[in-house]
Amino acid sequence: MINPSLNNNGNYIEKTFYLLDNNKVVGTLIIGYIDNSYLTESAMIFKGTLFNSFIISGIITVLLGFVISVFLSKGLTNPILNITHTANQMRSGNLESRSIVKTNVNEISELSASINYLAETLQNQEGLRKRYALDISHELRTPLTTLKSHLEAMVDGVWEISREHLNILIKEIDGLTKLVDDLKNTFKDLEGQLNINKTYFNISNELENIISEFKPLYSKTGYLLESSIEKNVEILMDKYRLKQIMYNLLSNAMKYLNEDGKVIVRLIKEDRYIKIIVKDNGAGIKEKDLPFIFERFYRADISRNRETGGTGLGLSITKSIVEAHGGKICAESQMNKGTKFTILLPI
Ligand code: ADP
Repeated sequence: MINPSLNNNGNYIEKTFYLLDNNKVVGTLIIGYIDNSYLTESAMIFKGTLFNSFIISGIITVLLGFVISVFLSKGLTNPILNITHTANQMRSGNLESRSIVKTNVNEISELSASINYLAETLQNQEGLRKRYALDISHELRTPLTTLKSHLEAMVDGVWEISREHLNILIKEIDGLTKLVDDLKNTFKDLEGQLNINKTYFNISNELENIISEFKPLYSKTGYLLESSIEKNVEILMDKYRLKQIMYNLLSNAMKYLNEDGKVIVRLIKEDRYIKIIVKDNGAGIKEKDLPFIFERFYRADISRNRETGGTGLGLSITKSIVEAHGGKICAESQMNKGTKFTILLPI
């Protein structure tokens, strides 16, 4: 047997063989050797160097992996921290805050863009809400101040309490009621809750009915209301909303008619849509006002409007109803010649 400590250059390996005589163990032969004993000195040095290189490269790989992972995770966490910071700012009411991230990771840049879009939308809505609240308080204040001053004049005896004067007050209250009703509709529109109950119906008949309801009102003031309606046109839309649209357009037209005032309503069926035209020969709308008439509270002719009790909400409601049906509305007008409203509703 060789003492394993004799050679440190390799592993000492021992193998045992039994010597048999007639199947009886008569002796044991143990062969021991060192596995690398055949290696030369230089081969042993090479082997050692190789072993050390493996160890060093292993350590370097682990360290490198660690550094890269720290670097990569910083690249991911920094933009996410930035986005979280923006979200927290928004939560505490700072809607001007935006996330600015520099990253090559698509998902993170999309997240940042989405949070910025959200901030932008919320900021716009906040602005709209503030403007709307201001507009409403202003709109309500005017008729209330008029009512109060009339009543005070009556109490002070400056204004006689007559049927005629009381009727003026009632008219003022009617205007206020209409304003509140219109506001209710615009609130629904703002919240995207404009209730639309679509059914199939004969729009030709429906328009004829609406026009015949309006005719007495027109003839009472000496105006003409005519129609040219294509027969048996079917549409899928909210019947009540059609009435609302026509009510707004026909009552508007009537307000701005002069002597020999005339309004004509047309219904034309095209390939993919239905066209409704309401054309009057009234006062017309100034070119500078025309682009804004569909905006909330916009009133082009303030002095005339005060007389007629307009709220500046009718056309904005009309537009949102038309758009809720996937349609479009536009206006053309010429001062002292008249105005034409065209509505396109998809079939
Ligand atoms: P209002 O309740 O004041 O009528 P609308 O939103 O219905 O509000 O109309 C906005 C403005 O557009 C009106 O104030 C008016 O100046 C103008 N307008 C609407 N329809 C007509 C029309 N047929 N002829 C002239 N001006 C019109």
